[in-house]
Amino acid sequence: MAGKSVYFFGGGRAEGHGAMKELLGGKGAGLMEMTRLGLPVPAGFVITTATCARYMKEGRPALRAIDREVRTHLARLEKVTGRRFADADDPLLVSVRSGAARSMPGMMETILNLGLNDRTVRGLAAKTGNERFAWDAYRRFLGMYAGVVHEVPREEIEALFKAVKARFKVKLDTEVPVEGLQDLCGRLKSLFRQKTGKEFPQDPTQQLWGAIEAVFRSWNAEKAVTYRRVERITGLAGTAVNVVQMVFGNKGDTSGTGVCFTRDPNSGAPVFYGDVLMNAQGEDVVAGIRTPLTLDRLKAIQPVVYRQLEEVRRRLERHARDMQDIEFTIEEGTLYILQTRAGKRSPRAAFRIAADLVRDGVITRAEAVQRIAPEDVERLFYPVVDPKVPAADLAARRLATGIGAVPGAASGALAFTAAEAEERAKAGEAVILVRHETSPEDVGGMHAAQGILTATGGKTSHAAVVARGWGKTCIVGCEAIDPDAGARTLTVGGKVLRPNDKVTLDGSTGAVYAGEVPLVQPELPDAYHTILRWADGFRRLRVRANVDTPYDAAKAVTMGAEGIGLCRTEHMFFDSEERRLAIQEMILAADRPARERALAKLLPLQRKDFEGIFAAMAGRPVTIRLLDPPLHEFVPHDEEGQARLGRALGIPADAVARRVEQLREANPMLGHRGCRLALTYPEILEMQVRAILEAAIAAKKKGTKVQPEIMHPLTIDPREMAILVERTRAVADAVVKKAGVRLPYLVGTMIEVPRAALLAGRFAATAEFFSFGTNDLTQMTLALSRDDAGRFLPQYVGEENLGIFADDPFQTLDTDGVGELVRLAIERGRAARPGMKIGVCGEHGGEARSVRFCDAVGMDYVSCSPYRLPIARLAAAQATLAQTSGAKRASPRRARAVARARTGAAHRRGRAAARTADAPRRSLASA
Ligand code: PEP
Ligand code: MG
Repeated sequence: MAGKSVYFFGGGRAEGHGAMKELLGGKGAGLMEMTRLGLPVPAGFVITTATCARYMKEGRPALRAIDREVRTHLARLEKVTGRRFADADDPLLVSVRSGAARSMPGMMETILNLGLNDRTVRGLAAKTGNERFAWDAYRRFLGMYAGVVHEVPREEIEALFKAVKARFKVKLDTEVPVEGLQDLCGRLKSLFRQKTGKEFPQDPTQQLWGAIEAVFRSWNAEKAVTYRRVERITGLAGTAVNVVQMVFGNKGDTSGTGVCFTRDPNSGAPVFYGDVLMNAQGEDVVAGIRTPLTLDRLKAIQPVVYRQLEEVRRRLERHARDMQDIEFTIEEGTLYILQTRAGKRSPRAAFRIAADLVRDGVITRAEAVQRIAPEDVERLFYPVVDPKVPAADLAARRLATGIGAVPGAASGALAFTAAEAEERAKAGEAVILVRHETSPEDVGGMHAAQGILTATGGKTSHAAVVARGWGKTCIVGCEAIDPDAGARTLTVGGKVLRPNDKVTLDGSTGAVYAGEVPLVQPELPDAYHTILRWADGFRRLRVRANVDTPYDAAKAVTMGAEGIGLCRTEHMFFDSEERRLAIQEMILAADRPARERALAKLLPLQRKDFEGIFAAMAGRPVTIRLLDPPLHEFVPHDEEGQARLGRALGIPADAVARRVEQLREANPMLGHRGCRLALTYPEILEMQVRAILEAAIAAKKKGTKVQPEIMHPLTIDPREMAILVERTRAVADAVVKKAGVRLPYLVGTMIEVPRAALLAGRFAATAEFFSFGTNDLTQMTLALSRDDAGRFLPQYVGEENLGIFADDPFQTLDTDGVGELVRLAIERGRAARPGMKIGVCGEHGGEARSVRFCDAVGMDYVSCSPYRLPIARLAAAQATLAQTSGAKRASPRRARAVARARTGAAHRRGRAAARTADAPRRSLASA
């Protein structure tokens, strides 16, 4: 193989460094960097991710190609450690661990104590004077090797250990005597022979190659693939393999192994947080097999080691400029650092840590803004137990208490396996996954569940680490519960719960409650407001809200709305019986005079709402869209409903039925809707435009600045647009003139139909602004119904399915197809009307990757529902910063200027920029 495939570190020197994650994986790069920093790191070497990629393609020849290099580095390792592989007196033992460029906690394989065999185990016992330790290490190695390299079922390996413990009548692993461990080793070798038809390999070199290959293979293990899918990890070459000199946490009571975080990963508070398990090895902590000690206990029993660990904490965080997750081992009172990486954190902690690091001068505001994942913003709003629920009620419901590993609360029915959780969640059920302990194999079910509950494990167990990364409620170490996956029961406090029983988890306190406890929105942390304020300083894109009532408008302003991008006027007809009847009367009217009488009732209602909205928006622009949906959506389709409506309006039921029948269309989405309604019933346009302008004038007279923008939906032709503009202006100008005020307003169109996008240049002759209705534009471009595509579209989306689309195009803008129309329409529109105001108001306006695209193509604003405004604000800032080189030094003003210049240039060249999520349901019934 061309180039270097193996990199060494040890004896204070390292051939790689921290920035080489792509090639050496996160773990390997971290070990190199820590070695360079002079931290106590055992020596070792790293086989590159490129080798893994080659192994995936070629198989074993890729291993043969690095044989010499591995041998050379093994010899170097022997020299640095002063021990020899397979030495009968003082053998070198190594760990063989996976490690990709992106952290995938526990998803790939690890083998410890490699180098042990029937001879070296005796040498290790003699050399250390600790027979128990040597045989414990050997039984671990035999079990791991059999499980990882030869896929001997872990339950069968575990069962052998359980049987030994039963024979010696002990409970804990550490209580098994030497004879028990020796006996276990013999049984493990027999199991190995029985399962593989071969003897357990005694040659350490053969063991090493077996382990290296198994680690490479684990890159494509189901759990790893699922994790990458869920985390959207793509474009990585594979995993590196880290071969590292063993240090031992299982050498007795002054040894131990642990995981610590430089800050509390749940709250973000700057406190040292972690678990340590004395007389234990490697995976015991993360696997959550025993419930560990806190770091405070460590401080009490090993104060010197604790102080060293504190120093490592300080240095590593400063060096990495981020919160770190550190793995360590204490071997007979000596501290070794085995791994450091950016720690997974709850959404709340993500905000606090970023803000605190800025305050401490460690990172810049721009970096803090870039460090928040848009999902973290969403997850911050996940519910908590309603503080109004009486304590006595909670006490009566409490089933058990475990360790609150990830805060937030969730309710659901009990699912006992990951597969069951996935299946029931897919069918729309809210489930809580309950396991004795979770293992990385459960990752799919953990993701699908609302919350996770385990009987064993600590705050840093796999379950906790993985769930925390997702902001998913998780309680671990809940020892009072006894889940039985076979019987599908959960026994707790003498009660037996079954699959249909619901529980509520409070991940903040660790409490498990029977049934569904009321949940509410949590209070937002101060750091959230701080970071969003910083984000606002960086972004070029404006953010607006899609709202239809004065109340929601006021709420939107508190969430950061800088205007309203879409007020769907039909929604205003739904919130009272009076309004519903008025619109139904209008629809059922037999002729124009009857329709005008009905519209005259609607006029004051609309005017009042608009006035409230203008007041709430206090001078910010307000885009109001005229009536859009097919009229049949407003009328009852069942006999009883029609009879009731007939009575309310004084019309015979059969006349109602006839009119409803007349409104029926085979394809209502392609039917008499959008601006076609305004053209065929001009009186509707007239009423709505009048209501808007009269409200604007009234608001202005009360001293409120107003910026009305009247928007026509679903236009298909420039001539149609010209007529609409002319009619709109005729009404509006007359109202303004009569009031004797000066009141500028804009008339524009939505771009929701491919034809309108293509003819955008000609539309721009009369339309003063464009707003992309990407819900309809997606529906019309893909010819997929936004209401029904959910039945089959999931099959199209994602590598695990047909892989036709990477994402659901109704959630994340299809930049290849729909995006191309958007680009083209912007280019043609602005060519005809330079500087034309352009935005988006489809659901994509609140989806991070789509927002990035909108920024790149030079839109002026995105508009989305109020609760997604924070995501839009953050994503817009990140989009600006992504275009600003040297973001570390970016000032808000410079970042915006660079982004404006680049966006303009990109737009002029018509260049594709961003590649790019809540399926909008269109029907009013679900609106
Ligand atoms: C759209 O189509 O994107 C849009 C915003 O309009 P509606 O969702 O009301 O059809
Ligand atoms: Mg639409």
